[in-house]
Amino acid sequence: MTLKHYIDGQWQQSDSQLSFVSINPATEQPIKEVAAGNKADIDKAVSAARNAFDNGPWPRLSGKERGAYLRKIAALINERLTELAKLEVADNGKPYPEAEWDIEDTAGCFEFYAGLAEKMDEQDEEIIELPEPRFTSKAVQEPVGVAGAIIPWNFPMLMAAWKVAPALAAGCTMVLKPSEVTPLTAIALAEIAQQADLPAGVLNIVTGTGPEAGQPLAEHPGVDKMAFTGSVPTGSKIMSMAANQVKNISLELGGKSPLIIFADTDIEQAVEWIMFGIFWNQGQVCSATSRVLVDESIYPQLMERLVAEAKKITIGEGNDDGVLLGPLVNQSQFEKVLAAIDKGQQEGATLAYGGGRPEHLRHGYYVEPTIFTDVSEDAWIWKEEIFGPVVCVKSFSSEEQAIALANNSRFGLAGAVMSKDLQRCDRVARALRAGIIWVNCSQPTFVEAPWGGYKQSGIGRELGQWGLNNYLETKQITSYDSGQPWGWYIK
Ligand code: NAD
Repeated sequence: MTLKHYIDGQWQQSDSQLSFVSINPATEQPIKEVAAGNKADIDKAVSAARNAFDNGPWPRLSGKERGAYLRKIAALINERLTELAKLEVADNGKPYPEAEWDIEDTAGCFEFYAGLAEKMDEQDEEIIELPEPRFTSKAVQEPVGVAGAIIPWNFPMLMAAWKVAPALAAGCTMVLKPSEVTPLTAIALAEIAQQADLPAGVLNIVTGTGPEAGQPLAEHPGVDKMAFTGSVPTGSKIMSMAANQVKNISLELGGKSPLIIFADTDIEQAVEWIMFGIFWNQGQVCSATSRVLVDESIYPQLMERLVAEAKKITIGEGNDDGVLLGPLVNQSQFEKVLAAIDKGQQEGATLAYGGGRPEHLRHGYYVEPTIFTDVSEDAWIWKEEIFGPVVCVKSFSSEEQAIALANNSRFGLAGAVMSKDLQRCDRVARALRAGIIWVNCSQPTFVEAPWGGYKQSGIGRELGQWGLNNYLETKQITSYDSGQPWGWYIK
């Protein structure tokens, strides 16, 4: 049975009558058939969202009322935690403990934005101080309208929550298009929304490819705001599409994030965070610290320990005990990552470890943890996002050189610094041109803190209050309170 779109509170077949198959990357076997949405499906979904926004109760409910729905969604996600985590493992390939963590964070994201929705009732208006006693002014926040969301495959359900939860908290209605590579947990989110009795049309989910379903959504004149997470080339296309209607956009794009390790860092801790920064989720993390810069005085020792620990990583099917590295998400990603590794070798970098498919795994899109050294600053593998378990390690001789190397990138999503000298950490954190900086760690992400990039890594911020602001318009209401005539034309 083909999984359908969720539009206007109902399960609907695709206008195209076509479907695509979601594949388990560990077994290369099909899991489910999913409706392949097209422009007609998007038109239906946008008009349902438009109607729910213009005529339905959702934007007119109090924040507390909207918050109650979000809490219900969070509770239903938690009830289905194991099942949803297993679905994520099957669809995406990630190790089960990581998937479980993702689903807990997904529920946590709905809880967090439920809290912010509730607070909106108290912070309903802000009085503006004016220098003119005849006037009073206030600012109010209103939902931006119908939001469109397009998301990637690396954290499928969590990326959906990062957009759906703040949009709904703000009072927007939404059309979400999940990645065609991992659509299954987004469909489960639609089931949950239905179970939570979310009013029809508030959340609509259309599955399909980027060009067939994503593009009509981004181009749709009935969409007031587009929120996108994905690669830079697609983000750039979305920006051009939105430009035609001067649509509000936020973009969360790629990265090539640096991790700087100073000489006074504990080597064991450095190795642990390097590995977490690049091997977690098979390195398919936008903020992965894929460029590691190490003080030359500890470089040989650190490299020896890093290679020794990388060798110990258990690679396999995400549900197997002790697995810390699963398959890449699909064949195309597998081929892209192997091609990047090949390119690195052709460019003259030294492969210190890994580089291929693990010998014991004949099926599935597995790539060994891979470590490159002797990488030139001009090398493709140093400059471009690989989105796999591939790290480039380089040495540096001074703080200034480390910062310059780190900042020499068209990306600016994240960065990290490790040192026992916290003043130095703060100095370097401020000098790095990126939106997210970790000190003495890499990757831990909190829904309370802002998320987003500098430079080509994106526009705008998600998470925290910033994430809610993405879906709000600010309106000033200014009144002339004096009973006296204005006296410009009529004296
Ligand atoms: P992608 O750009 O290929 O696809 C992302 C989404 O865009 C998918 O849903 C896809 O169907 C859709 N899409 C593709 N072409 C489209 C088009 N022409 N019009 C409209 N929609 C289109 O990216 P991906 O391969 O799914 O994800 C990996 C990328 O996402 C990496 O570059 C990664 O860094 C980035 N990412 C960023 C963040 C962040 O928060 N900054 C988080 C996760 C992933």
